[in-house]
Parts: sequence; structure tokens; C-alpha cells
Amino acid sequence: MRKGLIVQKFGGSSVANVRCIQRVAKRVVSYKKKGYDLVVVVSALGDTTDTLVDLANQINADASERELDMLLSTGEQISVALLAMAIHKLGLEAISLTGAQVGIITDTNHTRARIIKISTDRIRQALLKGQIVIVAGFQGITLNQDITTLGRGGSDLTAVALAKELKARDCEIYTDVEGIFTTDPRIETKAKKINAITYDEMLEMASLGAQVMQARSIEVAKKFDVPIHVRSSFNQKPGTRIIKEVRKMEEVVVRGVTLNKNTAKITICNVPDRPGVAALIFNKLSGSGINVEMIVQNVSHLRQTDISFTVNSNSLVKAVKLTKKITRLLKAGEVLQDNNIACISIVGVGMKSHHGVAATMFEALSQKKINIEMISTSDISISCIIGRKHAETAVRALHDKFGLAK
Ligand code: ADP
Ligand code: ASP
Ligand code: MG
Repeated sequence: MRKGLIVQKFGGSSVANVRCIQRVAKRVVSYKKKGYDLVVVVSALGDTTDTLVDLANQINADASERELDMLLSTGEQISVALLAMAIHKLGLEAISLTGAQVGIITDTNHTRARIIKISTDRIRQALLKGQIVIVAGFQGITLNQDITTLGRGGSDLTAVALAKELKARDCEIYTDVEGIFTTDPRIETKAKKINAITYDEMLEMASLGAQVMQARSIEVAKKFDVPIHVRSSFNQKPGTRIIKEVRKMEEVVVRGVTLNKNTAKITICNVPDRPGVAALIFNKLSGSGINVEMIVQNVSHLRQTDISFTVNSNSLVKAVKLTKKITRLLKAGEVLQDNNIACISIVGVGMKSHHGVAATMFEALSQKKINIEMISTSDISISCIIGRKHAETAVRALHDKFGLAK
């Protein structure tokens, strides 16, 4: 008897080499033999995507985003084919499909495309034939047949979106750590695995730098209640469940500490303090696809003020160029940039009902003599911009201060 459908996603580290691919094939086959139907989403081998980005940069640092997508999507095409071959070798039927072959239709925003529609006909036909379906993560196609990618870490989104469309009983995300930890276990070895975490907390952690899950994938999971299980592809241990509500939630105020080193700061000096100025600056930036993360405006002196904001380091050059253009329009002062910062955050739904959390965070940083350059808060997180050289020290100090290793 069939037991239902599971979507399994294997990240780059889980398919880094031939042995890893063979290990993944064995796991997939063992599930199939237990009676599950399987749709398997795969990322590019190891660091392939980074290598491809690097190659493109060497050829043209300002490469066309359409061509970048053409290039980056090849990584996943390699891994799906190899995994299918490894499964065939174990004697089972499998078929690999690209995003376009599945019919993952996206908008035309190359390198960060949004999924509009997924057609599941081809997948369902293959499943009916008893085949294991292997889908290239991270990619789709526009209505004009141009290949797109879904933003870095986008295979998570492919998996969650397919799990939703196919009404899978589970969406398993296999990676190189045993689940979601209280902080990146590569930075703090004392980090503890979390058994269950809410969509809200995971979304906040992912948006603030915990790369273990792509933030957009959690947004979709939350919207459609897709059950996610993040676990290791290297052992059989249960990992972390990402769910709507964690009942019997222990009184934790801070669930985790996150770090984002991929951020940079831009400051516009002497901005005229009058209505419409901020609207103009940030409209222009967002209109050019630049995502502004944190904004601080100083108290105005003599009808002038300084505005600082952060953007992803990768878009710094473009953002500075554009900001200079706007400041000329506004007759504002100098534009300064700083690519030596990091954003450190604490996340937890318990913060809503507790006082003094921010003060404790600032104290932990000051005890390590770390200067805070910017602060921003949401109802379930507090973030500070600090010097990048202090990033790891700050993670460990906060992890310790909030007793997360206990
Ligand atoms: P994959 O290749 O499987 O998609 P990623 O590299 O995208 O894997 O994500 C896994 C990595 O995320 C881990 O190796 C770990 O270093 C990092 N990470 C950052 N924050 C966390 C966290 N809070 N819990 C677990 N892993 C984390
Ligand atoms: N290979 C893509 C990346 O490295 C997608 C993914 O791994 O999820 O971003
Ligand atoms: Mg990933």
C-alpha cells in the first residue's frame, strides 16, 4: 500500500561529491521501498553555484541577469541527472526534470524570480509510473521560455512550493547540520539543536542571516501550512520541525542568535530635512531591485540630517552609484560606504512579553568592548550593526548571555 508523498530536498553539501550522491540515492531508495512516493529536489553539487558566480564575475562584473540565470541553472541540471543515474544503479526507476520541464512558471525578475504557478501533471504522471521524480531546485521558467532562478538558497523554495502543490505529507530538508540550532553551530560549538520552532521565529532567523533555510521558503510554508523537517543527510537522527505553533512552549525569551556578514552600510550626509526626501531615496532604490535592510535617520540639525541604511554587500556598488545620483538631485552632502560591518540579531517570540531584553543584549556586547553602530527592532527580534571583525565574538557572547547552551 502506498503511504503518501514526501518531498525531500538535498542541499549542495549533501551532494558535494560522488560518494555523497550515492549516499543520497540510498536514502531515497530506502524511502521508496518503505512505500512512499518521492519527489526529490536537489541543489547544485557543493559550491558549484559560487564557482559559477565567480566565473561570471571574471568575465563581466556587470553581467546580464538573464545570462546569469542561464549559467547558474546549469549547476542543478548536473546534480539531478547524476542522482537519477545513482538511483538507476540501485535498480529503481527515477527521472530527472529541470524546473522548465516540470513547469515551474515564474515572473521575469531574473536572479530573484517569484513562482507564479507550478504545473504538476508531468510529476504526477511519472509518480503513477512508479518513478522517483528528481527536480532541479532553484530554477523556473518565464512565460517567454527564459530560464530564471529563485534567489540564493532557492532550492528550499522549490521544495516547499512543490510540497504545497502536491499536498505532500512532509517536506524534508536534508542538510549538513542536524537541524536548526540556537545559532550557527559552525560559529558556536555549544549551540543546541531546537526540536521544534514556529514559522514566525524561523522566518525571522532566516531573514536575519541563518542561511540554513531560505527566508522566502518559510514565507510560503507559513502561508500554506507546509510541514517542514530540517535534518541531516549524514545520519538518521530526527532534526527540527518547523510548524505553526509550538505547544508547551517553554518560557524561552530568546530562541536563537543570527549573524549576517553579507551586509554593508551607506550614509548620506546633510540631507535636507523636508517631507518626501526619504520617499524619493528609498523609492528609487527599491525601483532598481535594491533591498534596503535597516534604516536610521539622525535627529535633524539646522534642517539637515544624516541617513544611514544597510544593503546586501553584493548590491553595494550598484546602491552607492544610485545613491550618489539621488543626492545630487537632492543637493545633499557626501555619500559614505562601509563594507566592514555585520548584523547580529537575537530572535524569539517570548520577547513580546519580556522587558529588558535589549538592555541585556547591549550589555553583552559592551562587555566584549564591541561598539554598536545601528540598532533596529521588530516585535520578535533585536538587531545591531557592529564591526565585522567582532562578528563571531558577538555571536558567542550573546549565545552565552542568554543561556542558549543550557
Ligand atoms: P544546504 O547546502 O544544505 O542548502 P546551507 O549551507 O544553505 O546548506 O545551510 C546549512 C548551513 O547553515 C549550516 O552548515 C550552518 O553553518 C548554517 N547555519 C547558520 N545558522 C544556522 C542555524 N541557526 N542552525 C543550523 N545551521 C545554521
Ligand atoms: N544552488 C543554489 C545556491 O547555492 C540554490 C540552493 O543551493 O538552494 O544558492
Ligand atoms: Mg541552502
